[in-house]
Amino acid sequence: MSVAKDAALLVGAPRSNARGKLGRSTVDTGTGELVGQTWPLLAVENLTKHFALKGGLLNRTKAVVQAVDGVSFDVQTGETLGIVGESGCGKSTTARLLMHLIPPDIGSIVFDGLVVGAADGGLSHRDLHRQMQMVFQESYASLNPRLPVAMSIAFGPLVHGLAKSAALKRAMKLLEAVGLDPMLFANRYPHELSGGQRQRINIARALALEPRIVILDEAVSALDKSVEAQVLNLLVDLKAQFDLTYVFISHDLNVVRYISDRVMVMYLGKVAEVGPSEVILKSPGHPYTAALLASMPSLDPDHRTEEAPLSGDPPNPIDPPSGCRFHTRCKFAAPVCSQQAPDLGEGTHQVACHMAHGSSGHPAAIAA
Ligand code: SF4
Repeated sequence: MSVAKDAALLVGAPRSNARGKLGRSTVDTGTGELVGQTWPLLAVENLTKHFALKGGLLNRTKAVVQAVDGVSFDVQTGETLGIVGESGCGKSTTARLLMHLIPPDIGSIVFDGLVVGAADGGLSHRDLHRQMQMVFQESYASLNPRLPVAMSIAFGPLVHGLAKSAALKRAMKLLEAVGLDPMLFANRYPHELSGGQRQRINIARALALEPRIVILDEAVSALDKSVEAQVLNLLVDLKAQFDLTYVFISHDLNVVRYISDRVMVMYLGKVAEVGPSEVILKSPGHPYTAALLASMPSLDPDHRTEEAPLSGDPPNPIDPPSGCRFHTRCKFAAPVCSQQAPDLGEGTHQVACHMAHGSSGHPAAIAA
């Protein structure tokens, strides 16, 4: 049984029972393998969010965008889970659902054995926000332009009841931790900083409540390549220094590859593939992952291809293709692909493709 399914058993379970039966798991950052038979830090089960598009005189629902559809995954203590996919695949909506910035239609989130938002014995959204923080792509929009950066960093702890002097002291320490001299930067305003410096402030803000998990939603995508590399290295250092767990969301497989222990690939609101980074990048099981890898730019002339690995835009999430949502772009599509949605399967490397499952009815699966 997968770890996500183990955690699903905790949904609705009394708090003491859930923690009494299992211990917390970690991931070996060298191999990406799960260490210990335990429960994950974060377990997401069947997370679903459809947005109604309304219009007309009576403001009736005209269409429904299936942004996230039945997504399940888990994140182990101390690991970095990379979530990757094209624009519109649902990765950022998934991040907002995790933070409860938007409520899910259905699905459950279990944090460290406690059901988030459960009325009885669960974890409140306020408590979740102490333990889970997020860094967004837009470094300027995330900061209050009227607050000096030290106050911006101290704001969260102040709201959660820390005394002003202690909150500012923490802000100074965090400025140092993100590589900015507190004497030079504490009293500056966001417009006086570069994009890279502002994103360092946002990272410090995210750490101010001493979270256990940080969601980085395209956090380095807007930066120049040299600054991007510096911020990535900073994130790696901070993870070790503060004992953090990351969910790292990006459209760029190169960046995800650099920082992630495991990778989850999303396509049109669903999980296409998830597994240890090395496995996914060396031998992808899903044709979509293979196409994403093939479309990565290479300096090696032997690895350049004339043919576009992925043609066309992703289909409209208002009316996604039947069966496997990738079948309209997949060169291996067989009749079963448009008739039946593939299962993700179980184990450390999960692939939502009929070719990966022997009894699916796909000719390539039978031959395998
Ligand atoms: Fe391609 Fe079929 Fe696999 Fe979908 S299930 S990725 S269409 S082979």
